[in-house]
Amino acid sequence: MEKKTKKIYLLAAILFILSFFLPNASLANGDSYEVSSAVLNIRSEPSNDASLVGQFTKGDKVNAFDEQHGWVQTYYGGEPVWVAKHHLISTGDSSQEAAPAAEETVNEEPAAEPAVNSSGSVTVSADSIYVRSGPSTSDIIISYAYQGDSFDVNAASGDWIEISLGNGETGWIASWLTTDGSSNEEATENTAPTVEAAQTQSSSSGSLSGHTIVIDPGHGGKDPGAIGLNNIYEKDVVTSTADYVVQQLEEAGANVIVTRNGDYFVSLDERARISNSYNTDAFISLHYDSFSAVPVSGVTTYYNSDSDTALASSLNSTLSSTVSLPSRGTQQAGYKVLENTNAPSVLIELGYITNPHDLTVVQTGDYQSSVARAITNGLINHLN
Ligand SMILES: [Zn+2]
Repeated sequence: MEKKTKKIYLLAAILFILSFFLPNASLANGDSYEVSSAVLNIRSEPSNDASLVGQFTKGDKVNAFDEQHGWVQTYYGGEPVWVAKHHLISTGDSSQEAAPAAEETVNEEPAAEPAVNSSGSVTVSADSIYVRSGPSTSDIIISYAYQGDSFDVNAASGDWIEISLGNGETGWIASWLTTDGSSNEEATENTAPTVEAAQTQSSSSGSLSGHTIVIDPGHGGKDPGAIGLNNIYEKDVVTSTADYVVQQLEEAGANVIVTRNGDYFVSLDERARISNSYNTDAFISLHYDSFSAVPVSGVTTYYNSDSDTALASSLNSTLSSTVSLPSRGTQQAGYKVLENTNAPSVLIELGYITNPHDLTVVQTGDYQSSVARAITNGLINHLN
């Protein structure tokens, strides 16, 4: 081969490789989306490990400027930020580049409505949700479903959808944590009557709908919090408990903001700043206690100022009637995170991880789920 021919081959190879990158860049630019999940984390980089910058809520508009591996880049507070694309519904494409047809046809779906497609299936839009034995948050949890899971719909009751679980069993899920399972808009007359009933419901008729709750999982990252027996870290038990709490609050229709969504450090000032940047109805900081005297046991609800006492006593009341550890009541304390938070705020110590009995109990899903139920019901009593 001549030298010249080799050069041409090399040039062709470079162009071929480049061709993989160019169209993607132009596709993402100009797309607009609406947030489909109750909350959507905003991160500094296109990764779940990147630091949390803030959160969008359902119905927020997002303009895409770039796209990488399932993440969409937009702007937040003037800074470039990233959000996970699977929580977004396409609402248009300002450029003439053809977006995939499936996304185009979703455009006319009202994103804020719980949607069930014409074939009577539904897709989970939240990260993970409970499947319950009946259509309310007080029915027992029989299974879990995860984002992207699709189910056939049997019936609807209020804002709840009865689904087939595939093993011959059925269960109920909250419709506001789901989206339309497909992009097919035609033949709505084939929609089952029960499904239409679900569609006409507002997505926000849960008993905490219209309320913004900030959940503050204590510690994280370089700050392990209390270190319990068997080297159990407070931050880890808190994280898992917070997952239950967020889930149940969302099921009750609340708009939930989480100050820490993984194992990373968040300063107390930042936690308060996050809460103060929303129209927050209640700020709840979750912790587990440590104490040198092993026999100490139970749950304590701390508050800082007079404006927090009603929230504190409501939560203390449901905690003492719901969770299996003894209640130690409410106590006034000058915790910085409570002082700096504008909304009514409490800090709950959910048990002593230095006490062998408490430690065994608090690590169970049963206990953490009962904490979530108590907090949800306490907030419902307090806010309604
Ligand atoms: Zn703590």
